[in-house]
Amino acid sequence: MEQQRTQGNDARSVNIKVTHAISNAVKSTLGPKGMDKLISTEEGEATISNDGATILKNMKIEHPVGKILVDIAKTQENEVGDGSTSVVIIAGALLDNAEKLINQGVHPSTIINGYKLADKKARELYELASYNITIKDKQKLKNIIKTTMSGKLTDSNTHIIDLILESFARTYNNDFNRNNIKISHKIGKSIEESELLTLFIDKPIEKPIITNLINPKVLLLDTPLEKKSPETDANITISDPDKYMEFLEQDEKQLIETTNKIIKVHPDIVFCQKGVDDVVTELLAKNNIMIVKRVLKEDMVQLSKITNTMVNSTLNNLVTGELESIEQKSINGEDLIFINHNCNIVNLILRASTDHILQELERAVDDVIGALTSVLHTGKYVYGAGSTEMKVSLDLKDYSKSLGGKEQLAIDSYADALLSIPETLAESTGENKLDIITEMKHKHNNDILAGVDVIANKVTNMLNSDVIEPLDIKLQALKSATESSIMILRIDDIILGKVIEWYNVYKNKKIIQAINNKLE
Ligand code: ADP
Ligand code: MG
Repeated sequence: MEQQRTQGNDARSVNIKVTHAISNAVKSTLGPKGMDKLISTEEGEATISNDGATILKNMKIEHPVGKILVDIAKTQENEVGDGSTSVVIIAGALLDNAEKLINQGVHPSTIINGYKLADKKARELYELASYNITIKDKQKLKNIIKTTMSGKLTDSNTHIIDLILESFARTYNNDFNRNNIKISHKIGKSIEESELLTLFIDKPIEKPIITNLINPKVLLLDTPLEKKSPETDANITISDPDKYMEFLEQDEKQLIETTNKIIKVHPDIVFCQKGVDDVVTELLAKNNIMIVKRVLKEDMVQLSKITNTMVNSTLNNLVTGELESIEQKSINGEDLIFINHNCNIVNLILRASTDHILQELERAVDDVIGALTSVLHTGKYVYGAGSTEMKVSLDLKDYSKSLGGKEQLAIDSYADALLSIPETLAESTGENKLDIITEMKHKHNNDILAGVDVIANKVTNMLNSDVIEPLDIKLQALKSATESSIMILRIDDIILGKVIEWYNVYKNKKIIQAINNKLE
């Protein structure tokens, strides 16, 4: 196998160039004026996204160091729901600044120590710059949703914001679990048709007698209600034709007996995870019982939680539950089931006219749910628009001065790297980046909430703006960016099993910057 080996500072420099290239590729998506990326696969499928983690995932990066950045973006998304672009930008800046120090003769281990000290201090400073929030602070939660969604295809859609707020109002309690808010989607109509209910089941009722049930008695089942087939069941072998007829009769008789067991407990509707024979459906219908077959396991689990009853796995001692209402409605000519019940579980059905919008909407809503979960978990938020990064950066510089020592330069570099966020936001305004940052620094002397107002293209106090974000997003981003940059700085030897041209990361995927990110 062809091998390529690079050592020492050369190795480091190659790795830093990789992170620089990747960070640059996502940079222009940051903030409400961020552009979208259109990523197309060799098969011609396209994804349009503004989401750092999604873009990186789709770029199919092969360089091992590039993969570290993909991972931190993914972790960021999984842990706190948002901030995946920021984490990559900060990691890129930390490494760029480290390279400058290395070129000035600073040893990588000194930089690593300095970065560790800076990370610890920055964390404390972010905490100090944070404010309290609870589930009752509707307006603040709304602002967090708006900030998280800004720049996405589905920017500030008030209907979606209201649905998300309502989802949390219905489900949030002390032992809140993110899975209590399920997201489903159905293409067609517009975002305005998105709705909130308890559970949406993408299946029809087999033989609907009525399509709107109030307080129905419900039976959940995970055994098949089908005839056994000698053709498909390996345990049955019959050669004698008489025996065969006898088998069929016996089999049907058994199925009817089984059905009678259901009829005996008389539910209004049965949800069955397995297949159901027409004979059963008919017989149940004659007894005014409806059935839904092949319900997904995850829906059965939800049904079980909602009704607070178990899923029956045998036909003996059947247990039933109750729901407030079940309705069968038609969407795009398909019959689907809508369930409502007063409990702490909800299902948000997203609607949009095209698949691309629907996908990006789903990613945005998923980010928002993650962001709200983390802000409610810690009960802390910070002001955005780069204002907190500026504050923490300036305070870090004071700290490094007080500390002195060899690490001082590295801590200063760390502080500068945090400015990559306001700098990138400033760049997205189209105004002079340096002017904006200089003005912002100046204003921070007596206004710690001065940020880059990207809508008005100027520096303003963020107190009365909507731009606030969960503290956890910032802390997680710092943690991942610091850890990954340290990990990359430690590497001084690259042995690649095959020659990988890092600068060809775009080879498989074409990235075209969509000129205007408003597709709607
Ligand atoms: P990420 O993937 O890092 O969340 P985003 O594209 O969502 O990237 O951009 C987040 C950044 O944009 C944050 O720093 C946030 O403070 C900033 N931001 C969001 N809305 C505004 C706004 N209206 N004005 C200025 N900055 C904003
Ligand atoms: Mg975001």
